[in-house]
Amino acid sequence: DAPLKSTLFGHPTGLFILFFTEMWERFSYYGMRALLVLYMTTETIGDARGPGLGWTSQEALALYGWYTMLVYVMSIPGGMIADKLLGQKKAVLLGAVVLCIGHGVLAITDTWAFYAGLGLVILGVGLLKPNISTMVGGLYAQGDIRRDQGFSIFYIGINTGSLLATMVIGFVVMQWGWHAGFGLAGIAMVLGLVVYVWGQKYLSQVGNLEVQQVGAVDESSYGALFQNLLISKKQLFFTIVLTLLSLVGWYSLGWGFGVLFLFLTVITALMMMIYKELDSQIDKDRFLVLLLSFIMVIIFWGAYEQAGGLMNLYAETKTDRALFGMQVPTVMFQSLNAAFIIIFAAIVASYWAKRKLKGSEASSLFKMAIGIIIMGFGFLFMVFATQEFGKSGSSSMLWLVMAYLFHTIGELCISPVALSFITKLSPVKYASLMMGVYFAATGLGNKVAGIIGESASDLGEYTVFLGILLFTIIVGALFLMLLKPLKRLTHGAEDNEK
Ligand code: GLN
Repeated sequence: DAPLKSTLFGHPTGLFILFFTEMWERFSYYGMRALLVLYMTTETIGDARGPGLGWTSQEALALYGWYTMLVYVMSIPGGMIADKLLGQKKAVLLGAVVLCIGHGVLAITDTWAFYAGLGLVILGVGLLKPNISTMVGGLYAQGDIRRDQGFSIFYIGINTGSLLATMVIGFVVMQWGWHAGFGLAGIAMVLGLVVYVWGQKYLSQVGNLEVQQVGAVDESSYGALFQNLLISKKQLFFTIVLTLLSLVGWYSLGWGFGVLFLFLTVITALMMMIYKELDSQIDKDRFLVLLLSFIMVIIFWGAYEQAGGLMNLYAETKTDRALFGMQVPTVMFQSLNAAFIIIFAAIVASYWAKRKLKGSEASSLFKMAIGIIIMGFGFLFMVFATQEFGKSGSSSMLWLVMAYLFHTIGELCISPVALSFITKLSPVKYASLMMGVYFAATGLGNKVAGIIGESASDLGEYTVFLGILLFTIIVGALFLMLLKPLKRLTHGAEDNEK
């Protein structure tokens, strides 16, 4: 029993196994992601890094949008497989193996390998990402105040992986070509797998299927769930309306919108099925709060994820990047976020912990609403940047640094907090599935971000940045106003944390 009880820096040692596994997984994910658009748009001949695919930037961004969305949407089946078939621990293991194969396949130079590799990465992340996050929650008992802090530490792992990857992978590609870069992502994932397998002894109490089913043998079956499929009139009504909307979207706005609406239809039907299946009113109320908080999540990522798209292009084309007689490479701006997370995660987490001990408002919903406002405020600096560009034909990079700083502080208020919140509020038998739905919401946010970003070519950056600024601040304020009734619906899930 010794490994089970062992702690490190006041947290279960298992946390650090999950930390390093996720660090390497995120290294491979963000490293590969950083290359993706560049690889697709590079000419098929004459590039020192080896042949790219020679696509237009529009084609590349479209695939990028779908890819970043699907990676997270696959968390829903990934979560279901964990709840029903494998348990989280084995699902993470399987996901890690699939990811090693996927990144390995991407290291092969053929076009078939490109698509097959992406497909495998999508499946692998879907199996790994939601379930490893649920496992972090499983390390703490209900009401353990260390849980939020545990997720902040885990979040530092995520961003350490992302920072390391974005710092070294460009260099590797310059030196040895695209497929060496993809291969490096694969090696990182193998390291993650090794850490995970080695650390199993510290994880014996979390993520097991049996444990999840104690006292709920029959109810935890998804079979019962699917008996609820479309039996209520309300469910049928919503599904038909949403399906019709999907078809309208498909024809009038393009197939992309149609698919997006179809996803929403399926997710809504699924959520209604689960709602019916929950036994107590408390569970039902908490479930509703979770779903409402997912609206904040979609809005947050829809605004925030301009980082890799519109703000990235802004840094490239409209920003004066001269520093000490050199040009700061555009990709460096992508490392700012991860670096700020590593610097500020502990500070933000301890600020909330102190506030909680003092008895002032620090519920997850409060933090999430504040997070949206702080992140939204970051766009003020982008508005200033576009104004400066309008006057002088170039804008200072300080605006971008400030914007990313506010985005990061906002992210720290919402993202690790939401992960922890889900593990507190989800009904145990659907814990992994709810985490999957959360990541799917972030995936939809990614897609929304892409759509907003594209609109900048018609509306102009100034309008888009100002629009996001106003919208996010209003939404955040609305949620703050709704805080009391929403908190009542959580039935004190966070009241007795010690
Ligand atoms: N950057 C975070 C991660 O990679 C959050 C991503 C998300 O929630 N979509 O884990």
